[in-house]
Amino acid sequence: MPAAFFGHGSPLNTLADNRYSRAWRAYARSLPQPRAILVISAHWYVAGTRLTAARRPRTIHDFNANFPPPLFGFTYPAMGDVALVERIAELAAPVRVERDPATWGIDHGAFSVLAHAFPDADVPVVELSIDRRKPAAFHYDLAQRLGPLRDEGVFIMGSGNIVHNLAALCFGATEPQPWNTRFDADIAAAVERGDREALISYERHPDAALAAPDAEHFVPVIAIAALRRPGDAYRTIVNGSELGSISMRSFALG
Ligand code: ZN
Repeated sequence: MPAAFFGHGSPLNTLADNRYSRAWRAYARSLPQPRAILVISAHWYVAGTRLTAARRPRTIHDFNANFPPPLFGFTYPAMGDVALVERIAELAAPVRVERDPATWGIDHGAFSVLAHAFPDADVPVVELSIDRRKPAAFHYDLAQRLGPLRDEGVFIMGSGNIVHNLAALCFGATEPQPWNTRFDADIAAAVERGDREALISYERHPDAALAAPDAEHFVPVIAIAALRRPGDAYRTIVNGSELGSISMRSFALG
């Protein structure tokens, strides 16, 4: 099973029909039918490594009240997968994984992409949190230990944005900021050549302070890159930039 990173952008993409949503859908159609989906979302950024463990995880509308009501009415009714939760906990050792049956579910990092990639919600979904206390190398190594899931029919997807700076959003911008273009290209190249060191030390990139000021949108990139195996092809799902300071690049490995 391939693994893929999706640049999710605005929560509005959940309900949008645009070139990103169409590319996500087309890519997912090219996949073998997964047994389950493991999502590493930017939007579950907490003190701990947690897994959603409900029989049917609830939809989490984790965005502010200015978004339109239909977005708050959106639900993604996929089942969870408690057997997969136990398998992930086993693979993650010695990292201790907490099972979360109630406080979290499928957030917009996950459902904005799943709504298009798996619109029937007929594949079980488990979400893995990002431990905000841990460095990039921890996230790389943890994700790498989950690699055997690819042989077990599990589609592992990261959802974040390679470049994500909300403070620098420029409404009406039609071109990416130069630092967006540079950082996005350099990180994509690092993923493509399997450069662990460049990825875990991304904060030392000269454009990182502007391009990736928050770790949560970047860690899913690291996690998917860590799943790279010898012989896996790097494939662009879609490229793009929104509002100058968001990269919409999505890519697949394998
Ligand atoms: Zn986001």
